Amino acid sequence: MFAPTLTIDVGAVIANWSRLAARHAGETAAVLKADAYGLGAALIGPALAQAGCRRFFVATADEGAALRSVLPTAWIAVLNGCPPGAERDFAGHSLIPALNSLADAIRWSDAAHKSDRRFPALLHVDTGMNRLGVDSADLARLVTEPERIGGASLQYVMSHLISAERPEAAETEIQAKRFAAVAASFPGLRTSFANSAGLFLGPDFASDLARPGIALYGGNPTPGSANPMRPVVHLAAPIVQVRAIEAGETVGYDASWQAMRPSRIATIAVGYADGMPRALAGRLVAQHQGRGIRSVGRISMDLMTFDVTDYPDILVGDAIELIGPNHGIDDIATEAGTIGYEILTSLGRRYRRVAKSV
Ligand SMILES: *Cc1c(COP(=O)(O)O)cnc(C)c1O
Repeated sequence: MFAPTLTIDVGAVIANWSRLAARHAGETAAVLKADAYGLGAALIGPALAQAGCRRFFVATADEGAALRSVLPTAWIAVLNGCPPGAERDFAGHSLIPALNSLADAIRWSDAAHKSDRRFPALLHVDTGMNRLGVDSADLARLVTEPERIGGASLQYVMSHLISAERPEAAETEIQAKRFAAVAASFPGLRTSFANSAGLFLGPDFASDLARPGIALYGGNPTPGSANPMRPVVHLAAPIVQVRAIEAGETVGYDASWQAMRPSRIATIAVGYADGMPRALAGRLVAQHQGRGIRSVGRISMDLMTFDVTDYPDILVGDAIELIGPNHGIDDIATEAGTIGYEILTSLGRRYRRVAKSV
């Protein structure tokens, strides 16, 4: 039986990682936070490790522990850092926290001293996001009083770009200058700077360790230009009903769409509970054998409807492609007024998930 099916092309993830690694003089990690952007860290992580990726980033301690169980020996860093009280557990799983403040750094260092060891860490310095990361006052103290965090063995100093997708943005250049200055105050310490889009910004943004996420999963790291990455996600659902309606009849909740002519309406069993935003109503153009078909009426929790009047050959059981080569994650994101990241991380749990390996 054909059910709504999400196909994840793991081979394409690996090809994308290799392509990014080839354009970068330094090392290239993989960002697997939010369960590999919704695609499954336990699927993607080991495949990338086998392809030669040695370093992985997640966001939270729980994600780190889960990834550790499928990658027993990999280097795993946790961007949100180590929660207070979790230091022993963290070190026990060999998770490497980003230290996001002087207080974080001291706490990590003290935990290491108590264990008579040095605990590895990344130092995350904020260069403009003003979200998470060491600020300039904390940074000055870390530089002048490094002994306060002597238990922390710093492996990288890192920062994160705020507008990497817009190379012309003034803040991009400012961050590069700030980061260069930060790096210079830690001579000999390796650096980690570029995300996916940052890898396309040029040598000022290169570093010893790039941290791409979205580009691995097929998102375009160069919006406005052709996507250099291979698509990873394919989502298709069978039509469960086709009905004929009269001119003047309406479709869906709130009667938000009215037929101007006798129409044929096709229904699929995918809705907002499956991660298709309600904002797609009337905007989503899905595909049927290479032809665009427009969604009409509200997106319901479990169903959505399309006007297929112009295609009498479309029948119950036919596949409607919601995400595919002609209509990728960035296209559906534009239709929904969001970004590919949110489309991926919202993909629902009800799809039949199929992993494609080569
Ligand atoms: C999410 C994230 C990344 C990956 O960003 P992409 O745009 O998905 O490549 C890298 N670094 C940090 C700190 C992040 O939070």
